[in-house]
Amino acid sequence: MGEKARAARPLAVAPGVWAFRSQGFAGLLSTLISLGEEALLVDPPMFREEASGIRAFARAQGLEITWLAITHAHGDHAYGMAHFPEALVIAQREFWPFWERTAPGEADYFARALAGFRAPPLRPPHVTFAEELAPDLGRKLLLRHTPGHSPDGLLVELPGERVWICGDTVIPIPYLASGDREELLATLRGLLGRWQGETIVLGHEQVLSGEGARGMIECNIRYLERLRERVAAAIKRGKSRREILEIPLSEFGLSPDALSGLAGELHRVNLDRVYRELSEGK
Ligand SMILES: [Zn+2]
Repeated sequence: MGEKARAARPLAVAPGVWAFRSQGFAGLLSTLISLGEEALLVDPPMFREEASGIRAFARAQGLEITWLAITHAHGDHAYGMAHFPEALVIAQREFWPFWERTAPGEADYFARALAGFRAPPLRPPHVTFAEELAPDLGRKLLLRHTPGHSPDGLLVELPGERVWICGDTVIPIPYLASGDREELLATLRGLLGRWQGETIVLGHEQVLSGEGARGMIECNIRYLERLRERVAAAIKRGKSRREILEIPLSEFGLSPDALSGLAGELHRVNLDRVYRELSEGK
């Protein structure tokens, strides 16, 4: 008790599917999926008050959140697990091994980025899968492995409603800190290959449909392709690492203000990743 359940204002994605945008970190999107009387929450928010707001909203719809799906083991998507200790957790098979490697760095990052934030301990997932999982939860759902942003990426698909909950596989600017450029490109091209006019919930900030949704995936692909071309050309011209890290985001048609102002910082990490990949060999 004593938890403040601030009324959460969700975005209606499809019948019985709502997305909640975090006010606390980079517009993280949590997606609530009705399963009848129970509900699955994809990427619970890392802040207790926001988690309480979603729980209160769910209860007002007659739903108890009994399942969580975590799209990948980055703190902003995974820490929220701690606010739903009773829920069963679904993740891709690589989630826990990846989290064990990445947890110390994530704790440091979020302690610096968010004053007063203390990273909670996480529990291993209850259900894992390698490539695909179609859980029998009373609603047609498909979870697919979508590596690239991280090794354990997953996408939650609602085939009946043509909704894809993408995690950070699709965000306003791709981010390679713990990912692999080629793998992410292959995953994104795979999404376009299966494209049937889906509504997509990005890992952060936006729910898109129609041309806007397809355009965002294409834009992510172009950025990753151009990133390699641009860095390779600079290396060929004898540019130093420092000069390469200064290649502006505007050359990629993106604003440094994208993704709650984080895009500039993420872009520099991406440039460095690709610089190392190309100059040292993979
Ligand atoms: Zn994220």
